[in-house]
Amino acid sequence: MTTPTSRRFALLKAIARQRHRYSLLRAVSQTFSLAVLAVVPLTGLARVDFWGGEHRLLFHPAPFKHALGGVVIGIGAMYVVTFLSNVAAGRLFCGWGCPVGQISRFGDAVDVPGQSLLHRALQHVKGAAFSGAFILSMLAWWTDLRVLVMGNAIALGLAWGSLACGVIAAYLHGRWWRWEFCKSLCPIGLYYSFVAPARYFGVHFRNQHETCIECNGCDNVCPVNLTPRDLMKPVTDRVGVSIADAPGHNHCLECGDCIKVCEFMVGKKGLSPIPLKLGHFAGPQRITPSSPASPVDASESPLPTR
Ligand code: SF4
Ligand code: SF4
Repeated sequence: MTTPTSRRFALLKAIARQRHRYSLLRAVSQTFSLAVLAVVPLTGLARVDFWGGEHRLLFHPAPFKHALGGVVIGIGAMYVVTFLSNVAAGRLFCGWGCPVGQISRFGDAVDVPGQSLLHRALQHVKGAAFSGAFILSMLAWWTDLRVLVMGNAIALGLAWGSLACGVIAAYLHGRWWRWEFCKSLCPIGLYYSFVAPARYFGVHFRNQHETCIECNGCDNVCPVNLTPRDLMKPVTDRVGVSIADAPGHNHCLECGDCIKVCEFMVGKKGLSPIPLKLGHFAGPQRITPSSPASPVDASESPLPTR
């Protein structure tokens, strides 16, 4: 029996074999995101040090209060950047820059069916390594990381204990929670949804009458259960910390998975242009689905449909 989860993983398996421009783009954006998180404390731009008291501000030793002020300003600056990106482009950061979302993606990669044991183990290692880098970057804001080697017994225990708890929590998130967190529990995501008009940039459906084969691949692959062909439709299935009845655009992570699937499905038919687009809005943002020119024959589809 096919379930929404098995349909989604069948699609993830199909697109996992693709070389796609988004893979490189995401690697760059996630590396940049982690680098910003790490560079601020590691260079001494702003960091407090609860271990050795070597607080830093603007690359120089500083009193605790000043360094803490720098840390708060650094976090505030990130808030401003993400706020502006949300106003212009919706939850783009969720799909491309959020390390927690990336950990969910590594979790998905482990569960894509049909992999060899070795390949699956490699996905585990990649997810764990990324989680470790993320938690270490967070830790670096609050302590000199040399504590992990040079601390006394108590400091070593506290530092390694914090690191281990963080990595285990991140790993467990990637194994079990994943996108449910982005969908219904992330407090930052809630705020992003609230300020995400996505008027200038986002996913939109541009030429359904010409090339949409109604395969439902975009619906099936969406990690947060949206209908990418009609993101103006109010979303009513959110629970937890989420905005009820806001349009799909507000909840869309701009992750591009629906675009990849759409390109895969439509490309197999040799049709163009691709009905779904992630980019600047030019033209109608919403077209109500109606009879397509050439609906796919379900028996021809390589993937299960809803
Ligand atoms: S609608 Fe598309 S871009 Fe938005 S969250 Fe779903 S799969 Fe990602
Ligand atoms: S062709 Fe593209 S837009 Fe149409 S249902 Fe399939 S994936 Fe969605």
